[in-house]
Amino acid sequence: MPLGPLQSALLTWYDRARRVLPWRAGPGETADPYRVWLSEIMLQQTTVAAVVPYYERFLARFPTVEALAAAPLEAVLPLWAGLGYYARARNLHACARVLVAEHGGRFPRDLAALKALPGIGDYTAAAIASIAFDQPAAPVDGNWERVVARLYAVTQPLPAAKGELRTLAAALMPERRAGDFAQAVMDLGATVCTPAKPRCLICPLQPWCQANAIGLAEALPAREPKAERPTRYGAAFHLWRADGAVLLTRRPPKGLLGGMMELPGTPWLASPQDEMAWLSQAPGRAAWRRLAGTVGHTFTHFHLELALFVAERPVAAHDLPGEARWVAPADLGQEALPSLMRKLLKRSLAEAAQSGSISRGPTETKPKRRPRAIE
Ligand code: SF4
Repeated sequence: MPLGPLQSALLTWYDRARRVLPWRAGPGETADPYRVWLSEIMLQQTTVAAVVPYYERFLARFPTVEALAAAPLEAVLPLWAGLGYYARARNLHACARVLVAEHGGRFPRDLAALKALPGIGDYTAAAIASIAFDQPAAPVDGNWERVVARLYAVTQPLPAAKGELRTLAAALMPERRAGDFAQAVMDLGATVCTPAKPRCLICPLQPWCQANAIGLAEALPAREPKAERPTRYGAAFHLWRADGAVLLTRRPPKGLLGGMMELPGTPWLASPQDEMAWLSQAPGRAAWRRLAGTVGHTFTHFHLELALFVAERPVAAHDLPGEARWVAPADLGQEALPSLMRKLLKRSLAEAAQSGSISRGPTETKPKRRPRAIE
């Protein structure tokens, strides 16, 4: 649609109040689709503040699609460790390879061609098309949903209202300055039309906002109550050598935490097992000791409670699982260790430090920052 009064008001606000973000083009510059894509994939389920250092490290190491495509996956995953949802990193790498092999290292401008790439769905395709190529495609994320639900006072709860919100969002997109408009809605949702206490008095959309007019701003969007997460149970085994090296294995390439490194462990089951059942799956013979309690971690679709076993003696090489290898303390920071594994190591090392049982234990492996434990 052409620029109407609502679109003009929001764009005027955006020109004045836009957030300065490292992946954004400055006024008058053209956005780089590689940077838009990378930032949008990183921002899924994660906050802007948490993403910035990851984005900067990743871009310094892989400044172009070609550089990313040429790297092995094992070089990419450690730069993602701590961001969660590791399938995104695997898809990012696969997508770079398809772009180089089939598109000459350039992003297609067409929505359907973008959506055919690994890891690019409706939202990311629309974000790249609008922000990098100025096409009127609405990238409807949580901020967009909230703004549109309030603007049109959509009272149907999410997720059932998603289809209606997408239709209303698409109708809002102007043909000119589409990328700026898409980002303006994102910024408005992040800074003015916030989930709690929206700042309606200073909002550029206030003259058109139906939820504000009927006093429903803070109540929308409505949501169906969330189903409870089930709990799963398992055991992890922390084995270290006298020099402090830790035994790690690599998870299968596909599935949850695919391709990441981990402490050897059992499958995660619907019910807890007794200690003997867990120990029968330990990696080799050692004087295993179970630490008190369990280590909990919450993923998107389930909660996990892991029993943690430690052993302080090396085992014979032929006892170890095929994929296992020893990692020196100084190298742990370079490994693609998910937050769960860092949590387990931290728990084990805290216990060892208290009991004085590790003379040269692994160094602290805590990631720089993480907004929440969900992956
Ligand atoms: Fe959101 Fe209030 Fe603006 Fe409506 S007027 S869009 S509820 S901040």
